[in-house]
Amino acid sequence: MADRIVAANWKMNKLKREVDIFMDQFCKILRDLNYDNLEIVISPPYLYLERVISYRDINSCNFYLGAQDVSSFRGFGAYTGEISSKQLKDVGCKYVIVGHSERRQLLNEDESTVRAKIVSALEAELVPIVCVGETGEERKNGETEKVVSVQLDSVISVAKSNGYNSLVVAYEPVWAIGTGVTPTCEEIEKVHLFIKELLKDALGKEFPVLYGGSVKPENSGSLIEIANVDGFLVGGASLSVKSFIDIVNSVARR
Ligand code: PEP
Repeated sequence: MADRIVAANWKMNKLKREVDIFMDQFCKILRDLNYDNLEIVISPPYLYLERVISYRDINSCNFYLGAQDVSSFRGFGAYTGEISSKQLKDVGCKYVIVGHSERRQLLNEDESTVRAKIVSALEAELVPIVCVGETGEERKNGETEKVVSVQLDSVISVAKSNGYNSLVVAYEPVWAIGTGVTPTCEEIEKVHLFIKELLKDALGKEFPVLYGGSVKPENSGSLIEIANVDGFLVGGASLSVKSFIDIVNSVARR
């Protein structure tokens, strides 16, 4: 795995035609660029995973495929509507986003579900991008580290009991997602250091920690300068080729 990662999370956006327009333009730009030690991840809706990955194979365009979620059920079976980690691996995914705050809040995913999803991802040799982060209320109450450490306990307990190849954590303050507001550089630096140290103490190893929450071309250059920020998880700004490539370029320049 590269030292830096920029991952796009398209969420529930785009139709086939828009996927094709994006991938076409994106691959034309990417083919001419040479990024050293940087992995670019595109996470489309499940339906378009194969469509997106087909561009890499046809255009030798250098990105990795990510899924936005995975079932907490392992293997295969009678789980209507679910998608298993093995199926994601089978269609070419390398990464899977787990524990995104939208799923924690809108779909009531709790820590035990998040843990089961990490287990399932690791079993299929997918790299989980585990999202952690506090709500606005929790930040106001000074609970950021407490909340993040509970969420990281899931990562640590699964990693200890199941083993792992690679893991990525994304620090995504819930109040910064899709709002245009970001924490100050000092606040981000503090939480990233906290996450890095906690994981290192528990697992004896450093893991990439991405920042997510209103990353855009206007702020990505300064955000990537923050110590222990190893890249970004990008929502809204990943929907346009221009803004996503601008963000990728700012990470590549660091
Ligand atoms: C996200 O949902 O993971 C995210 C970071 O969204 P946005 O970039 O739109 O804030």
